[in-house]
Parts: sequence; structure tokens; C-alpha cells
Amino acid sequence: MYPCEGRFQGLDFALSDLFAQYRRDMMTNPARRILLVEDEKAIRDAVSAYLEREGYWVTPAADGEIALTEFEKHRFDVVVLDLMLPKISGEEVCRSIRDTSDVPIIMLTAKGETEDRIAGLELGADDYLVKPFSPRELVARVRALLRRARADEEPQRDRLDFGDLVIDVAGHKTFLNGEELDLTASEFKLLVTLARYPGRVYTRMELVEKVLGYDFEGYERTIDSHVKNLRAKIHDDPREPRFIWTVHGVGYRFEAPQAEEG
Ligand code: CA
Repeated sequence: MYPCEGRFQGLDFALSDLFAQYRRDMMTNPARRILLVEDEKAIRDAVSAYLEREGYWVTPAADGEIALTEFEKHRFDVVVLDLMLPKISGEEVCRSIRDTSDVPIIMLTAKGETEDRIAGLELGADDYLVKPFSPRELVARVRALLRRARADEEPQRDRLDFGDLVIDVAGHKTFLNGEELDLTASEFKLLVTLARYPGRVYTRMELVEKVLGYDFEGYERTIDSHVKNLRAKIHDDPREPRFIWTVHGVGYRFEAPQAEEG
């Protein structure tokens, strides 16, 4: 055998692997379908064009009624939903979709409507964007939600590794720079809840339900003190956070710090 034969053979194998992977991707990841519900034509057209350029399949809907009709007809991977809509409001559409589906929903809200944002998240929306937003930002959020939806289908990870911060979920242990931290059961649950989905915003109310297991409104502020204690233990400065970020008027989110170069 000539030495080059092996190399060519190697290349052939690599190429056929690549094609096999491509075929698998096409089978398992066909174009993602997005329902875009927005009554302002200019926004609808701009956002549609942007999403389509990114390879998504977009179904536009100009009001809540069309949105629900389309939702019944097709399977969507993400719903982008304006809150203020003619005929059927965004809240109603969200509630109605949530009755039958776990599809990721991004709410679009007007500036300053903090109450609406909280209501949206509590109705079961996964994320929100405040108008005016850049289509690029929307595409980034859509991508993040699709990633998260895929992660949900996989078995939950037992170990969450964020560099200096490592959470051993199964073993109920947390390490900061290799040192085990002494977290209370609630602090641990709070940290795992937030850290499982970096970037997802949790309202205080959601955290109360997930961490404390009840849903009395008066307990929302209890979450703030758990967050305060947790931050102190993981050495996270609220003014310059690395892990836990305050979302003003709404709640909290976890971010995985970017790996530092060098
Ligand atoms: Ca609107």
C-alpha cells in the first residue's frame, strides 16, 4: 500500500462521516418553525425578514385570532408574541397556547410595562423583549430558547460546571474554587434552579414556587434574602455580578461567566 492511499482513505472516511452527520442533522433538525404574532406590519415584516435570513420558517399572524388558528394548524418550535394585540390579547393567546403546549414563547412588550412583563412570565412565557428591540437580539433569544428546549429533552445533568463554581446536583454539594460551600437546602435549590438554565429570567414568584414550594405572594421578598445569602457565599457582588443578576422589577437570572483567555 502506498502511504498516500491511507491518507486518502482517511479523508474519504472523514467526508462520509461528515455527510452522515449532515443527513442526521437534516433529519433531526429540519428548518425551525416560528409563529410571529405582531399587529404592527412594519415590525412584523422586518422581524420576519430577519428570521428567514437566519434559516427559520416564519408564519406571521397579525392578530390573536389568526395566531390561535395558525397554532392549531401547525407545529411550531418557538412563538414570538406581542402583548398588545387586536381581537384576542397576547395574554389570552399565551394562556391558550399553554393549555396544550410547552412551546417556548417570547413576549414582546412596550417600554416600561414591568407589570405586563411579570404577568407574561407568570402566564408561562419563557422570555420577553422590550420594544424597541433589535432583530439581532430577537434572533439571539430565539436561538437560546431552541437550545434550551433541546437541553430539556436530554436527561438533566448531575453536574453543572462554571469554572470556579461547580455544582454537584446529585451529591447536593457546591464548590467554589475547589472548596465546598455550606449552603442551606433552600440556597442550594435556588442556585440549581437558576443555574440549570443560564440566561432564563425567573420571577420572584416562580422562585418561591420552585424553591420554597408554595405560592403566597407575601413570600416573594423571602427570595431576596435567600439570594442575598447565596450571593455572599459564592462571593458574587450584586453591583458587579458574575453569576446571579438582578432583573429589575422582575426577578433574577443566572449567567455562566465567559471563560477568561490565558
Ligand atoms: Ca401590538
